[in-house]
Amino acid sequence: MCGTCGCENTEKLIPLERRVLGKNDELAAKNRAWLEERAILAVNVLSSPGSGKTTLLERTIRDLGATVPITVIEGDQATENDARRIRAAGARAVQINTGTGCHLDASMVARALEELRPESGSIVFIENVGNLVCPALFDLGERVRAVVSSVTEGEDKPVKYPHMFRAAGVLVLNKTDLTVATGFDESAFRESLRAVNPEAHVLPLSARTGEGLGAWYDWLRLASR
Ligand code: MG
Ligand code: ZN
Repeated sequence: MCGTCGCENTEKLIPLERRVLGKNDELAAKNRAWLEERAILAVNVLSSPGSGKTTLLERTIRDLGATVPITVIEGDQATENDARRIRAAGARAVQINTGTGCHLDASMVARALEELRPESGSIVFIENVGNLVCPALFDLGERVRAVVSSVTEGEDKPVKYPHMFRAAGVLVLNKTDLTVATGFDESAFRESLRAVNPEAHVLPLSARTGEGLGAWYDWLRLASR
């Protein structure tokens, strides 16, 4: 799928790809140290396109922005659309356009952090490029990964994309307002997730209606400590 990161077969990476990932891990460690020194909670937000990452962040900024400073690093192949939405919600945002690239890497995040200068004790959301494959391979220096999956996507995404779901600290199950319309089977989804990641904390919610958001905010408060 992605020639840059060799995500088709992580067990048989060719040497060049290994070097790319090794270099990325070094830069990610620097980002992590920089963020942790300042007690900044960095959340790498991952999903397929259209799962509702930006909507979730807009809502979170509107509801929590007065309590805790929030900034956002937006990754998309093209356009400033999502950064514009984030700014309209009241947070500072830096947009990274990856061009042909299909994931964010630690050097892009380092540059974005230099521009953003997030304050101590704040939350930085890194909205990754919508893609369930190679973003899983690239450590950005985040404290935790939040994978967003929506009820419109079907129940077997975790077993189909195990690398992505295995790395999730928290799993946001979005668009629960559409559960009936889509016939989504939440217990089947949880079973699929358990097969690859028994530890992941699952938060069913609707970023559109607001249902379940309280648990997401509680989780963020705990993760901030
Ligand atoms: Mg988005
Ligand atoms: Zn990629």
